[in-house]
Amino acid sequence: MTSLLDVKDLEVSFKTYGGEVKAVRGVDFHINQGEVLAIVGESGCGKSVTAQTIMGLLPKKVSMIKGGNVTFQGEEILGLPKKKMQKIKGSKIGLISQDPMTSLNPTMKIGSQIAETIKKHTDLPKYQIKNRTIELLGLVGIPNPEKRYSQYPHELSGGMRQRVLIAMALSCEPQLIIADEPTTALDVTIQAQILDLLKDLQQRLNTSILIITHDLGVVAEIAQRVSVMYAGKVIESGTVEEIFDNPKHPYTWGLLNSIPKYTNGEKERLVPIEGSPPDLFAPPAGCPFAPRCEYAMEICIGEMPDAKQISESHHAKCWLNDPRAPIVEGLVAAGR
Ligand code: SF4
Ligand code: MG
Repeated sequence: MTSLLDVKDLEVSFKTYGGEVKAVRGVDFHINQGEVLAIVGESGCGKSVTAQTIMGLLPKKVSMIKGGNVTFQGEEILGLPKKKMQKIKGSKIGLISQDPMTSLNPTMKIGSQIAETIKKHTDLPKYQIKNRTIELLGLVGIPNPEKRYSQYPHELSGGMRQRVLIAMALSCEPQLIIADEPTTALDVTIQAQILDLLKDLQQRLNTSILIITHDLGVVAEIAQRVSVMYAGKVIESGTVEEIFDNPKHPYTWGLLNSIPKYTNGEKERLVPIEGSPPDLFAPPAGCPFAPRCEYAMEICIGEMPDAKQISESHHAKCWLNDPRAPIVEGLVAAGR
């Protein structure tokens, strides 16, 4: 089966005054129809850059696609001319960004903004466009959609604005939605509502979702598979169960340890990952997590480990999974 979206060996750099920043360094992942994949990692790990590259949204002047392929429905979309990409965006791939306030036009009624997207991508007559817009506002759980149609973004709460963006992303029934930190700006209750909404829409419409997040709580809530990124690379990928129950990379252990846990209503102390990610001006030859890793061995410094297959769906890039590596006590249980 060919996947809906296939990203292979993607490499992206930025030109800066200080030199070239290698933000994405050989990223691979795929998404099947109807599937939710989460890309998770700390800020600066290259997850948003990856999403922007897929959508053709990189700032041209300062970015360089150094290699790789991105195929959507079997067709290469990496570096497509703007016009062609724009056609795909909105009709086949919808985007939900982090900050609804900057993504919506503050001077335009929300109904008109959604209607405009529909107009751009369909041949629907005018009266049907309005009906479709109102239907979409209802679909994403906005009460009184007829009234909301004529309101401006500032008249809506943050959660409602995020729903408008989701309605906009859904307006042309895309096969894939890319959501970059879609709930980060929202409070916890609204965050849960938006995730429920996305999950519900995905199940009803069989849309695939690529969700970018730093929050493993969000991952557990919505995703079926996870790719963990660190310093521009995917260092572990697997199903949600494999990543949460049998993680095989010390960075993933650290991420899992930093999720707040509640026991008898009391919040347990978080264990942050000490140190900071490497400088991507001059990325290390070996494992990029080595300076922060309590299990680092000599080989880790000099040589980047290949992806070791743990199961058909589970891969990890860590020398501890090499048969020659010493057995780390609690390799499986560590990090839980
Ligand atoms: Fe730690 Fe080595 Fe594994 Fe990197 S490869 S995560 S340094 S044990
Ligand atoms: Mg980001």
